[in-house]
Amino acid sequence: GRSIHQIQSGQVVIDLCSVVKELVENSLDAGATSIEVRFKANGLDSIEVQDNGHGISKENYDTVALKHCTSKLSNYDDLSSLQTFGFRGEALSSLCALSNLQILTAQAHEAPKGTRLDFESSGELKATSVIASQKGTTVMVEALFANLPVRRQELERNIKREYTKVLGVLQAYACISASVKFAVSNILAKGKKVVIFATKSNVSTRESIANVFGAKTLSALVSMDLRFDLQDTRNKKYTAGKGDPQVGVVGHVSRPVVGEGRQTPDRQMFFVNARPCTLPQFAKVFNEVYKSYNVSQSPFVFANIIIDTDAYDVNVSPDKRTILLHEQTALLESLRMALVELFEHQDQ
Ligand code: ADP
Ligand code: MG
Repeated sequence: GRSIHQIQSGQVVIDLCSVVKELVENSLDAGATSIEVRFKANGLDSIEVQDNGHGISKENYDTVALKHCTSKLSNYDDLSSLQTFGFRGEALSSLCALSNLQILTAQAHEAPKGTRLDFESSGELKATSVIASQKGTTVMVEALFANLPVRRQELERNIKREYTKVLGVLQAYACISASVKFAVSNILAKGKKVVIFATKSNVSTRESIANVFGAKTLSALVSMDLRFDLQDTRNKKYTAGKGDPQVGVVGHVSRPVVGEGRQTPDRQMFFVNARPCTLPQFAKVFNEVYKSYNVSQSPFVFANIIIDTDAYDVNVSPDKRTILLHEQTALLESLRMALVELFEHQDQ
């Protein structure tokens, strides 16, 4: 089995969104090709994330929910080249303290038998029992923040906004994770189950976007496959299709159409090497180019920045992944030129 490493860090579970993000990232780290997220009452009652990943090995049952215990071997000095999302061993331990946490898990050789794990709020393992389970892991979080009345009230008060934010995060993971099938549902207070969206695995990004945002969205989108040569960008040039590209911005953006009502949802998703990131400066370029066409709304953007890992620094905070690109100014200018060219081309 893999060893448990101890790593120092801060609080990762600050709101509903960070709970779901941490659980989904654990499923992705476990190599899942299917992830189901089930909310009850928008997450107020419970959040369940079920995957078909490699499961938890018996020798790690005692430690999975202890603070700073992680089975993920990674180089903490170089966050940009991390192979896994998790590296701090904090999410499950925080969730033990902040909710009722229960885990069902089975490794391939154990299925169709699995184990149910119950924890103390300290993260210590309280009890295990044998259950029926397919290969994979289901993490159930009930009564989030119930033991912290002020935070619970805040969650209840802001639940609509929080839930919308969570769905936004799930949309981004679902569209970028081509090899993973996502299913997201919500059980309303009266017991009615609502399917929010479902994607398939091994389909194109376009098909996932259609499944998440509706097929109508597709007809309004232009594909982006912008490649930049850093020498070029430093000289404030952009040459489409130039050889030896070092940076790419790949994805889909809505075509600016003057005088037309909104055809696409008001969503902008940015990724660096397929990891969801907050990139306000990039968003600004898209919005400004769009505005230059006298279109009042902001565009739908799904943009993955493909770039060498030594060309940026990562700052991973609980609710976002912020990236500092070393050549950002030059790159943004080239992106602006490339977008204008892309849209001009579309007009013909
Ligand atoms: P981290 O992801 O930083 O390692 P977490 O607290 O999120 O820390 O998870 C602790 C450990 O629990 C992980 O290192 C992993 O071994 C195990 N684990 C959590 N979720 C899953 C999952 N869905 N499938 C398999 N193992 C999991
Ligand atoms: Mg984790």
